[in-house]
Amino acid sequence: MQFADRMSRLGTESAFEVLVRARALEAQGRDVVHLEIGEPDFDTPQHIVEAGKEALDQGFTHYGPTAGLPEFREAIAQYVAHTRDIAVKPEQVVVTPGAKPIMFYAVLALAQAGDEVIYPNPGFPIYESVIRFVEATPVPITLREERGFSLDVEELRSLVTDRTRLIILNSPQNPTGGILPPEDLQAIAEIAVQHGIPVLADEIYSRLVYDGVCHSITAYEGMQDLAIILDGFSKTYAMTGWRLGYGVMSEALAKQMTLLAVNSNSCTATFVQRAGLAALQGPQEPVEAMLAEFRRRRDFFVAGLNDIPGLTCAMPRGAFYAFPNISEVSRSASEMADFMLQEGGVACLAGSDFGVYGEGYLRFSYANSLENLSRALERIADCVAKLRG
Ligand code: PLP
Repeated sequence: MQFADRMSRLGTESAFEVLVRARALEAQGRDVVHLEIGEPDFDTPQHIVEAGKEALDQGFTHYGPTAGLPEFREAIAQYVAHTRDIAVKPEQVVVTPGAKPIMFYAVLALAQAGDEVIYPNPGFPIYESVIRFVEATPVPITLREERGFSLDVEELRSLVTDRTRLIILNSPQNPTGGILPPEDLQAIAEIAVQHGIPVLADEIYSRLVYDGVCHSITAYEGMQDLAIILDGFSKTYAMTGWRLGYGVMSEALAKQMTLLAVNSNSCTATFVQRAGLAALQGPQEPVEAMLAEFRRRRDFFVAGLNDIPGLTCAMPRGAFYAFPNISEVSRSASEMADFMLQEGGVACLAGSDFGVYGEGYLRFSYANSLENLSRALERIADCVAKLRG
């Protein structure tokens, strides 16, 4: 079978590959602590599960409108208006199976061969993959540890050309746990407005912020037509397997994305949307409890990493990832991640899986119990000691 050329341009998410390798080791009887996959280890709150079951009983088992059930789009519009302090109409909302399709659709709808897309590096690997897929040129903007893994606005300005069709931002950020400060968002918004460039604001971790609130670029002047918010239920409500996300954008772009959706997934499972409605309208205490637990684990795990000679780890301000600097170990990030898994029984990802500027770092998801994090720290310390000789 001969595959289309475009297939060779698609990248992947190494977390899923490492998970398979870790499971294979477990099948051989090895014990592995899983710090590779980016998902909350909590169960979906019970009232959301009940709403999903009830919806099945009520017959939400048919096709639904492509962009989402009207009552659900309305609830999302209200939620996003409230959390971002902006005006949102239901017509601006596109519901998708997980938030990932919004990323794919945004790039498909806005960029083509010869265009340029600016994206964070290190960053979620799917951005670069999709940009290459549509034959646009990926233009990385470096996130630097010394800036709290934020970007340099002047560098961003210098990367903008008349072929820039999209800027992708992610805050709170995967893999670094960094957050874009409001003054940077303001400056980025000014650049976007000046050049009329749409901004995809990947805010999937918007509720997982440890100090205060997460600011959104969408609230700055002139961004209403240019911003595309990506958010969803996977991380906030521990609903990764349900596949439920959404985008909020201009009505014109929402129509284009709906066209892409009707050409691919038709609609998002309607009983899942009903569960999402319960998530938005029901008690938010489970989200707060999860965040409090993540904070405890973050403080414990990051302190433990910093106690290991040879590692330093900046304090993540959002999401549930630690991104320690391994430059003193003098091994590549992927060699070190392999060693951790094979020799230490700790599954983690190489920073370089998130782009070239992630070299010199490892990514650990601390969405695991304190007990497992404690076991992982002992094993990581042993591995680092061995590698440093
Ligand atoms: N954006 C970022 C930065 C992510 O880390 C992820 C998932 O890991 C997603 C988007 C996709 O989320 P979903 O599971 O809703 O498709």
